[in-house]
Amino acid sequence: MIYKRSSQLFAEAEKVIPGGVNSPVRAFKAVGGTPIFVKSAKGAYLYDEDGNRLIDYINSWGPMILGHAFEPVVQAVIEKAKLGTSFGMPTELETQIAALAVAMVPNIDKIRFVNSGTEACMSAVRLARGFTKRDKIIKFAGCYHGHSDSFLIQAGSGAITFGSPNSPGVTEGTAKDTLLANYNDLENVKTLIEANENEIAAIIVEPVAGNMGCIPPNKGFLEGLRTFCTENGILLIFDEVMTGFRLARGGVQELFNVDADIVCFGKVIGGGLPVGAFAAREEIMNYLAPLGPVYQAGTLSGNPLAMAAGLAMLQTLDDDRAIFQRLADKTAYLHEGIDKVLKANNVVFTINRIGSMISVHFDARPVVDLKTAGNGDNETFKKFFHGLLNEGVYIAPSAYETWFITDALSYEDLDFTIQAIDKVAKTF
Ligand SMILES: *Cc1c(COP(=O)(O)O)cnc(C)c1O
Repeated sequence: MIYKRSSQLFAEAEKVIPGGVNSPVRAFKAVGGTPIFVKSAKGAYLYDEDGNRLIDYINSWGPMILGHAFEPVVQAVIEKAKLGTSFGMPTELETQIAALAVAMVPNIDKIRFVNSGTEACMSAVRLARGFTKRDKIIKFAGCYHGHSDSFLIQAGSGAITFGSPNSPGVTEGTAKDTLLANYNDLENVKTLIEANENEIAAIIVEPVAGNMGCIPPNKGFLEGLRTFCTENGILLIFDEVMTGFRLARGGVQELFNVDADIVCFGKVIGGGLPVGAFAAREEIMNYLAPLGPVYQAGTLSGNPLAMAAGLAMLQTLDDDRAIFQRLADKTAYLHEGIDKVLKANNVVFTINRIGSMISVHFDARPVVDLKTAGNGDNETFKKFFHGLLNEGVYIAPSAYETWFITDALSYEDLDFTIQAIDKVAKTF
């Protein structure tokens, strides 16, 4: 396929936007070449500025679980836009989406909407600190919780891809309050808690990690975190920005039957518009302004277009209870297909999968944390990425990313993808 116009547009963009992109993961730094510029998208497909059609496995990095330009979401946004795009005053719509989210997700009484996953995680930690009157947090290497200062310490995909796990600009003062643990390593967490007795406000975790490839929790890991938190007066924050409304109707809390104290959302909850949210039991949420002392605000929070898109999305997921099984079935089918063709071509690999999240790693050893995620052979990944792009299949331009399966993907699309992988594997 030819990507001539995309290259030209990228050159223009580089003149006025740092690196030509508004979020680093969109650049092709890790794989070489220049990013594809999108013109439109519908269902399972992207259409680029050169007129190519690509099967999309990124799906805006997660939000488009029903495929692109999903009709009820598009209609809801159009109808709301005609009535005014922002008021900075309450609307009934906000209560409707809040009530639906609270009904779908276990163990939460109240939810507050913000504009991104970053904001949700940042606010959740502030709330946890205010509630517990403690300063420190534990995060896991390779987990990404957005780009706010406290989290840019071994922060997963984007940050690792660009070799700056700890960003300049984050002060030592901020960094010292973030304690780092290894994912799936309860002993490590225990040691940190013991060394910082009565100082830790929260443990924040991606309950299924998705920003170092897809890494499900080991058996007992989430349960262990829950026990540590309960025993030590620490709040457990599940960052479900990626997994919420994707792995189950009620997210990972429902899937593994483990309760978090605060849950963060983003991506799917906004139906493709800029939305994040955080939620908890009433006693914790009532700590937020204007009821409580912890300040948190937003001019565009609860924006009517964003809420309309999110509500249409959540309503569809709530009505169609078979959807999560359907997504898991498609993902399992893709897994089996990839497994078969890579083995047939003698490729060394590991595939991780849960629900509609899957990642392919070019190393035979199990991938369970950031260190093992780094074992993958990046030269093979580059060939894999560009080979697939040439066949019209678009996966994330980094070996540390998860693929997202959408309801719009047909079994024909999956077969096409498996055949494309077979073709590409022959060139390794
Ligand atoms: C994407 C993501 C975020 C950040 O969300 P933004 O909307 O990009 O700010 C936070 N946490 C997790 C787990 C994510 O996947």
